[in-house]
Amino acid sequence: MAGELLVTQGAGATREVAVGFSVRFGAGRPVVIAGPCSVENERQIVETAQAVREAGAAMLRGGAFKPRTSPYSFQGLGAEGLRLLGRARQETGLPVVTEVLEPADVPLVAEWADMLQIGARNMQNFALLRQAGRSGRPVMLKRGAGATLDEWLHAAEYVAAEGNQGIVLCERGIRTFEPYTRFTLDLASALAAKQRTHLPVIADPSHGSGRRELVADLGRAALAAGLDGLLIEVHENPDASVSDAMQTVSTAEFAALMRSLWIAPATDDLPALRAAVDGIDRALLDLLARRVAITGRIGAAKRQGGLPLHQPEREAAILDRLRTQAGAALPPGGVEEIWNAILGVSRSCQSLPAQEAGA
Ligand code: PEP
Ligand code: MN
Repeated sequence: MAGELLVTQGAGATREVAVGFSVRFGAGRPVVIAGPCSVENERQIVETAQAVREAGAAMLRGGAFKPRTSPYSFQGLGAEGLRLLGRARQETGLPVVTEVLEPADVPLVAEWADMLQIGARNMQNFALLRQAGRSGRPVMLKRGAGATLDEWLHAAEYVAAEGNQGIVLCERGIRTFEPYTRFTLDLASALAAKQRTHLPVIADPSHGSGRRELVADLGRAALAAGLDGLLIEVHENPDASVSDAMQTVSTAEFAALMRSLWIAPATDDLPALRAAVDGIDRALLDLLARRVAITGRIGAAKRQGGLPLHQPEREAAILDRLRTQAGAALPPGGVEEIWNAILGVSRSCQSLPAQEAGA
């Protein structure tokens, strides 16, 4: 296992990685990167960028230089693709991440991209890692499909050793015996990478499953596990995507995924904003129902212990703690207004007979 490396110093406490002016990985809120596997034409990349931005994505992805298994497959638009990514960034304000395949291309890609992607196939291209380390741009380092955790961390060390600590690790699935999923997203290793380094770690459930019908659930699983973000392949018409069509979701499916992650859409569209709020209300309702069930049992315990049902000092302590925890997240008086209502419901549940209180 990796001994003391630059990337393992202060392991377990994630250090933030900034991209552009607006994006910070590892700052507590998941960063979702979305866009097509390949940049295909100007209309495609600009419209997809607009759609994913509206849905709440923080960054745009799109391949200009594509690492393809066959030399006869579409290789990407190259420098023209970089220019189109620049157009999409200009139109949407979204920072861009794109893959660089060759050490010699690093300066050119760094000119157009806010973050460099080192792909799975190049994870141990040491000349490329060194060059990316000297680029002045943050780097997203994908795990090789056959790489161990230790090899992945040492690959990151090549970037860090050049003085570049702006590294985000991306778990994108490893090769296993299972052919049904193209690769197997290895959440355990992604979590281990978070424990063993100070680097933010994100998941790519698109390459990590190879199947679009698994992408949303796998993405939710990765964020529930505590990873710092997602990379999702999105296309306006997934079946027509020139690469990775099978694992690509539509812009509408992507918007639904973002709602399910409670990530706010960046739009003034009233129905979209209301759909986001409705999803959050649904989640709040589930939590409140669980709270009510527990407070019912607390009521029974108080009765058994001969304690008074209403304990104002306990309620005051709850409000104090929440006020501190909320900070400026709610408007002044917001904590009192909301929790006085919640505590009131709990009190009336506790005064009901046990079976009616849901205990
Ligand atoms: C990609 O992100 O489109 C890509 C080629 O990824 P990977 O290197 O993980 O295969
Ligand atoms: Mn792809």
